[in-house]
Amino acid sequence: MTAPPQPSAAAYADVVARIGRAAQACGRDPATVTLVAVSKQQPWEAIAPVLAAGQTVFGENRVQEAMARWEGKSQGLTLHLIGPLQSNKAKEAVAFFDVIETLDRGKLATALADQVQRQGRSPRFYVQVNTGEEPQKAGVIPGEADDFLKACRTIYGLTVEGLMCIPPAAEPAGPHFALLAKIAARNGLSKLSMGMSDDFETAIRFGATSVRVGSAVFGVRGEA
Ligand SMILES: *Cc1c(COP(=O)(O)O)cnc(C)c1O
Repeated sequence: MTAPPQPSAAAYADVVARIGRAAQACGRDPATVTLVAVSKQQPWEAIAPVLAAGQTVFGENRVQEAMARWEGKSQGLTLHLIGPLQSNKAKEAVAFFDVIETLDRGKLATALADQVQRQGRSPRFYVQVNTGEEPQKAGVIPGEADDFLKACRTIYGLTVEGLMCIPPAAEPAGPHFALLAKIAARNGLSKLSMGMSDDFETAIRFGATSVRVGSAVFGVRGEA
């Protein structure tokens, strides 16, 4: 008897198919949308089948947790930091991650630029925008995004590849995705990290180039 397929392998295939359909529905090539599979707080039994199915891009929101999970296993993978980063963890973050999506303030930019210099390696960077201007949420507010992006270039010497946002949970996400796309366009940025399990299809319609999907792929966190 063969073992039944792992639930996460089926859920993963379903999410990949939904991404493809959402892209096609708005005339986009599905290959222009990257799935960042958010493996934070997930047990290895949920992650292994998704790895085995060929997924190579994973998202994590804590530096230490990510290192514990992926150290020695990250060959050939692309790891994204999608959670808030403290300046004093810039060293580990630059050494470990391929993409840091949560750049949002000068102090952190300084620390990251310093580590890029010292380590001679640079992750790709996204600036997080707090589109809903929520006080408890990280990210630069929309009105300060242009100035901060300019400072990243001219003061900190960091190349920013795109923008990331997490819309307020209680609001329709579409207007937030549209705002992020608008800020990116006027700053000449082509990459948009937006959309999670509940709204990734909407995000694709608004131009997401990567979607960060956790529970729809791996199951509800902490219950697997
Ligand atoms: C946890 C998390 C996700 C994934 O959330 P799901 O709703 O499980 O898909 C995406 N983005 C960020 C920044 C997160 O912290």
